[in-house]
Amino acid sequence: MERPKYIASLSFGKDSLAAILLAKEHGEPLDEAVYCEVMFDENISGEVPEHRDFIYNTAIPRLERMGVRIVVLRSQQTYVGLFTGRVTRGPKKGMVRSFPLCGKCAVQRDCKIRPIERYRKTLPVGTVSYVGIAQDEQERLLRLEGGQQVSLLAKYNFTEQDAWQLCEKAGLLSPVYAFTDRGGCWFCPNAKREELRHLYDHHPDLWARMLELQAIPGKVTEKFNRTQKFSDIDAMFRQEDSDAAPQQAA
Ligand code: SF4
Repeated sequence: MERPKYIASLSFGKDSLAAILLAKEHGEPLDEAVYCEVMFDENISGEVPEHRDFIYNTAIPRLERMGVRIVVLRSQQTYVGLFTGRVTRGPKKGMVRSFPLCGKCAVQRDCKIRPIERYRKTLPVGTVSYVGIAQDEQERLLRLEGGQQVSLLAKYNFTEQDAWQLCEKAGLLSPVYAFTDRGGCWFCPNAKREELRHLYDHHPDLWARMLELQAIPGKVTEKFNRTQKFSDIDAMFRQEDSDAAPQQAA
C-alpha cells in the first residue's frame, strides 16, 4: 500500500523548525513543508523584518539543502486590503473596517487560514501533518486530530526549551527570539509592548505606515488593540524617549 503524504506546517519559529530537524534526524517521512506568509500590503511582508530575512536568507536555503521542499502560500488579501475595506451591511455600513479585533483577527481568517485550507483541499486524502507542538504543551497536544496531525516533538520528548536548543545548535533560531517569545505579524493587535517598542526603534518606516492608517477617517474602531490607539502608543514611546534624553542645561 502506498504510504500517505507527509507535510510539515512551518512558521519558521523554533517549534516547527525543530520538528523538521527531528524528522530529518530520525528519517521520518517528509514530503514538503508548508509556510503561509501574511502580507501587510502587496509588497511588504507581515513578518517582522528580521524574521522575514531569516526565513528567506537563512532557513529556506538551509532546509532546501537538506532536501526539504518548501511550499510558500500567500493570500490575495492583505492587512491593508482588509483595513481599508468598507463594511457592507448593518449599522456601520460604509465605514472603514480598520484594525482587526483581538481574539477575532480577520487577517488570520483571510490571509492565513483560508490559503492553508485551500491548499489542504489539493492534498491526497489521508495526508499527515507534522505540527510544531512541544511535549510540554499538553493542552494543545490533546487537541490534535487523531493520526492526521502528529507532533514529532512529543514523539521524541522535546520540550519547548529543547526545541530552542536544537534550533540554536543548528544555526536555525530566528533572531526575533532576541526580543520576543512569540511569533506573529508586526501589526498584530496582540503584540506585546517589547515587540511594539522594537518596531518603533528599528523599523520607523513600518511604524509610519501604521500611523497613516490610524489617521484614516470614518473607521469602525480607532483602537489598535484592546485599550490603545496606535497614536497613543506612538505618543507613549515619544514621551519615554524625551524622559530618557539628557536634560539640557538651562
Ligand atoms: S499574528 Fe496577529 S495579526 Fe497576524 S494573523 Fe495572527 S492574530 Fe492576526
